[in-house]
Amino acid sequence: MSPITPPLARRLDSLQSSAIRDLLKLTARADIISLAGGLPDAELMPRDRIATAAAAALSDRSRLQYTESPGWGPLREVLAARESAALGRPVLVDEVFVTHGSQQALSLLSEVLLDPGALVVVEDPAYVGALQVFRAAGARIEAVPVDAEGMRVDALRELITRGERPAVVHTVSNFHNPGGVTLSPRRRGELAELADTHGFWIIEDDPYGELWFDQPSPVPVANYSPNVIRLSSVSKILAPTLRVGWMVAPAQVCRAVELLKQGADLCGSALTQQIAADLLTDTDWLTTHIDAVRAAYGIRAKALVGAVRHRFADRVVTTDAAGGMFVWVDFTDGTDTNALLPGALDAGVAYVPGSAFAVTTDYSHSMRLCFTTSHADVLTEAVDRLARAARV
Ligand code: PMP
Repeated sequence: MSPITPPLARRLDSLQSSAIRDLLKLTARADIISLAGGLPDAELMPRDRIATAAAAALSDRSRLQYTESPGWGPLREVLAARESAALGRPVLVDEVFVTHGSQQALSLLSEVLLDPGALVVVEDPAYVGALQVFRAAGARIEAVPVDAEGMRVDALRELITRGERPAVVHTVSNFHNPGGVTLSPRRRGELAELADTHGFWIIEDDPYGELWFDQPSPVPVANYSPNVIRLSSVSKILAPTLRVGWMVAPAQVCRAVELLKQGADLCGSALTQQIAADLLTDTDWLTTHIDAVRAAYGIRAKALVGAVRHRFADRVVTTDAAGGMFVWVDFTDGTDTNALLPGALDAGVAYVPGSAFAVTTDYSHSMRLCFTTSHADVLTEAVDRLARAARV
């Protein structure tokens, strides 16, 4: 008798593998310039400084041990001080919770904040990692579009006026992934007011806020309302391998997250959390380091946007790339970016078609380009290849 294969849980039916991760497998070819990945540049990551901090951490055997579920105490203190400065109010250590990257914060929060069928409002185009988490939690998803000023808060208001009651609204407030745009200060205030009036949580997902080029990011949405849970991470400013992210949330939310974190992984790594604390407290070094990353990405972003506007002229509208890692390109000439992709790969350039991030809108005439991992001359060559593929 052949064995009966046991089934997997039904909630997996709603999950799809990330189209971007699948695509990345194809673009690892050496002859392809990839603008598809969403990776920070490993060349700019402070390997030697991390090595020194790791050696210092390992001189204390307790760093080999389990640590507290909400995070290693001294790291939470450093983060509370940084967040107090960013938010312009005292942030208590009990309001800071360290997670395995901010992605884990999304995952744990989805369990703490969402009953099955609860409504989550996301941005369209969306951060795919958030979509996956909310879908896995069995949430109902509605989307509101993003424009040059970030989330269309008027569209969210309309949804609420129609009787929808979101439990959570997710926003990537600075240098959106994938849209490249930043939520304007006026809309931050309006979004917060809606959250206060209608009693929903805002998840302000902000891994890119420190990567501004010419002027600092606006004050966080968390400054405007107590209903904001703010997520940050060292992935884009230090290195993703540390897997150190954190949330700032009311203490009762942190306590609930703690119960789930114990079930998920007991605790994070005391070793990488000490490394992160070491680097984040070395403020002169940190300022110089982040300035260098900003300067490098700023040059690359301007080169990419300049090349796209030069080669494609009025066939496209592109974001300005004032920070972060991404440029969003809309083709106004009807180019279908899914149809263009095989030709682009043949020409030696990869990008992510807009449809990979689409929730309800059709982004088949859009693409996301990532400028972090190539120098300016390579980015210009990539745009030349793209133009050849598009017969421009
Ligand atoms: N939020 C957004 C908007 C992201 O783009 C990413 C990384 N791609 C994350 C969260 C997760 O980052 P990490 O887990 O490395 O902190």
